[in-house]
Amino acid sequence: MTPPTAIRAELTWVDGALRPGIEVGIDADGRIGSVKATDSPPTHERIALFPGFVNAHSHAFQRALRGRGERFERPDEDFWSWREAMYELVQEMDRDSLKRIATQAFSEMRRSGMTTVGEFHYLHHDRECDWGFDEVMLEAAAEVGIRIVLLQAYYVTGGIGDPLGPAQKRFDGQNPEAYWSNMDRLQSLVDGRRQRLGVVAHSIRAVPPDQLALLHEESRRRELVFHMHVEEQPAEIKACKEAYGMTPTALLLDRLDLDNRFTAVHDTHTDPSEMSRYLKCGARVCICPLTEANLGDGLADVPGIISDGGRICLGSDSNARISMLEEMRLLEYGQRLQQQRRGRCRDSEGRIDRVLLDMATINGADSLGIHAGRIEVGREADLVLVDLDAPTLVGCDGDSIAPAMILGASEECIVSTMVGGVV
Ligand SMILES: [Zn+2]
Repeated sequence: MTPPTAIRAELTWVDGALRPGIEVGIDADGRIGSVKATDSPPTHERIALFPGFVNAHSHAFQRALRGRGERFERPDEDFWSWREAMYELVQEMDRDSLKRIATQAFSEMRRSGMTTVGEFHYLHHDRECDWGFDEVMLEAAAEVGIRIVLLQAYYVTGGIGDPLGPAQKRFDGQNPEAYWSNMDRLQSLVDGRRQRLGVVAHSIRAVPPDQLALLHEESRRRELVFHMHVEEQPAEIKACKEAYGMTPTALLLDRLDLDNRFTAVHDTHTDPSEMSRYLKCGARVCICPLTEANLGDGLADVPGIISDGGRICLGSDSNARISMLEEMRLLEYGQRLQQQRRGRCRDSEGRIDRVLLDMATINGADSLGIHAGRIEVGREADLVLVDLDAPTLVGCDGDSIAPAMILGASEECIVSTMVGGVV
């Protein structure tokens, strides 16, 4: 469908509030050309217009695990027993099944208001080391019309100092030369309007520090964002201390020139003083509340990160459930339950809707290095349309609409999404 030239929704999310009488002009190139006050009647009655949600961390193939591994033979099942189920799934994949699963996951993302996915991709190889699964992700995203930042993961050890296990062969990053030459190949395949690349070191378990430093240095030279799983599990911290005499975060601070292109995913068990030092570099944190709950990981110190000025973004990670509204809700509610206090993600005016929506939009866009996440001139026209007459929003008006959507609504209130102005 060709982009509409202008949208006048009943309410538009601009500068952290829903405002009436706003016209958003969309240019032919799919970017926002104007945002201005208007007296003209709405083109979209009973619709609230928000920036599209940005899913900063996904492993699309894990959508196939939904409901699997949820029967518990032993009382002590945790992340590590889940990982065994994931490795079983990895053995079954071929191009067709991966394409089908990724398309399903990306479609669900759009239906839940997500217009961009940061696909943290480590399942690379179909046969031998052919990198054959990489373009499958780009193809699936193009089919669904979701914007994608393909975060290409480097993964070379099965644990600190261990070779890759048989189940991990399909993740093999081989060596830096092979990794970067594949990145050059992918760069020639991406559709520049909606697709970009980013760099990933899977985790401290999967990448030795010397190679991590080289990978990060090259990503900075190429001006690409860099993502890494960090301190999701206490066992990872313990193993890192035993091997290198420091935590993963301390190692990052010691060995890398961290900046705002760096995003640590999880930071569930990060030491508060190391977290403060990490955030001072401008680096970011991605939290995945639904997956962390599903895996029994624990709760990150979200109020601590916010009070240190940290920028948190959100990800659907294992895709056990795909809902940005629920990610926001659980982020706040997890903290309420743990601390027996309310308003844990509040700003200086006591508002949580603004803070949580920033996490779900602009913070994710910045983490992925895309110019989206806000209804502002020059940004991508990536938008989500919300039905103000949805049953779960009935009776809400004014300042209660955004908190009601975050805390009380679900995907049924989302009418449609636009990516680059295209419905
Ligand atoms: Zn992950």
